[in-house]
Amino acid sequence: MSDPAEASLQKAKELVEDLDFKHVTSWKTEHPGALVVGHLPIYVPRPLFEAMGCLPVTIFGGGDQLDVVRGDSFFQSYICHLPRSTVELGLRGSLDAFDAFVFPSTCDVIRNLSGMWKMLFPKKAVAYLDMPQNFSPELGGRFYAAELRRVAAMLVQSGAKPLTSEALSLAIVHENQRQALLDELQALRTQEPWRIRASEAYLATRAGTQLAASDHSTLLLELLKGFRERPARAYDNARVVVVGSFCEQPPFGLIRTLEQSGCDIVVDDFQLGLTAIRGPIPLREGEEPLDSLVRAFLVQGTPTACRYVGNAPKGQALLTQIKQHRADGVVFLAASFCDPALLDQPMLEKALDDAKVPHTSVKFSENTAQFQPVREQAGAFGDSLKLWGGRP
Ligand code: SF4
Repeated sequence: MSDPAEASLQKAKELVEDLDFKHVTSWKTEHPGALVVGHLPIYVPRPLFEAMGCLPVTIFGGGDQLDVVRGDSFFQSYICHLPRSTVELGLRGSLDAFDAFVFPSTCDVIRNLSGMWKMLFPKKAVAYLDMPQNFSPELGGRFYAAELRRVAAMLVQSGAKPLTSEALSLAIVHENQRQALLDELQALRTQEPWRIRASEAYLATRAGTQLAASDHSTLLLELLKGFRERPARAYDNARVVVVGSFCEQPPFGLIRTLEQSGCDIVVDDFQLGLTAIRGPIPLREGEEPLDSLVRAFLVQGTPTACRYVGNAPKGQALLTQIKQHRADGVVFLAASFCDPALLDQPMLEKALDDAKVPHTSVKFSENTAQFQPVREQAGAFGDSLKLWGGRP
């Protein structure tokens, strides 16, 4: 019997692997005059762009399918790979169809890339979007609202529709629908990880970074139906959480290697940009939807390495996640030279050690080609979890 999820998974795979962004060109043909806004990871408030008739598209660098020739010459050796391959994509013309670029304040590398981008591509609209690290409405909230208005004004100057409350409310509703489906996908994965492999959940989720929220919802509905209908057999695998690859993405083959090594990845942060706000964004009577977007960022943000947690103990959120998804252990999977992930990791490891949760650590680059050592390491880790247990 053929796999009922196969056709939709293939659609998602094509979107994820399309380094020439042909879908962006097709979208522009279907939406004459509308803008495509490329943005770097991790998070930007996608409903803001959709409300202005724009398609927000996340740019994750070149992965393992791109030869970086000129991109390397712009950077020193000791930073991550993503900015090199992103510059390469720009210089080879793969991003020509994009009208504007937004660089969120994820890390110094992305901040500096925004300045380089202005010099390299002076005809494109470029904005650095500064996210607050103060979460009080009067301070961080006011600052963030002003940032969003500034970026919106730049897009209007580039030809986007002006932002209206009605359009933004509708875009938030669409985003909330997508989020509910992503939650369903996650719940199914937690319950029956053998029914949806981590690599499939990855494709299903990442495809959404290339689509409008309502189009992603259509794809997710097809996929969820297919996943539920397909025959599936339970395996006695160790359940692990994977953390640290929220920006530069591991090669697809590396995710496949992990799942083939006896570990079920029950939850991960690969596509944190789509889940950076927990739960639906509430729209309140009498409140401007832009303020709803800001409030959601302030109070519903997922704890990440790029978000200040104040006095809350580091690692608390990870321990909660482990309990919630009944995980046995943690695999730290960070991009080499990723400052946010690697500076966070020792604090998270300490929290895990204190709670007696086993963990292991792997580093990668988006173009890593050797998976055998990871297979052996993850296989040994999975076996040890099954032999000696780890669930707190
Ligand atoms: S991989 Fe890490 S260091 Fe590199 S751009 Fe992303 S967040 Fe910054």
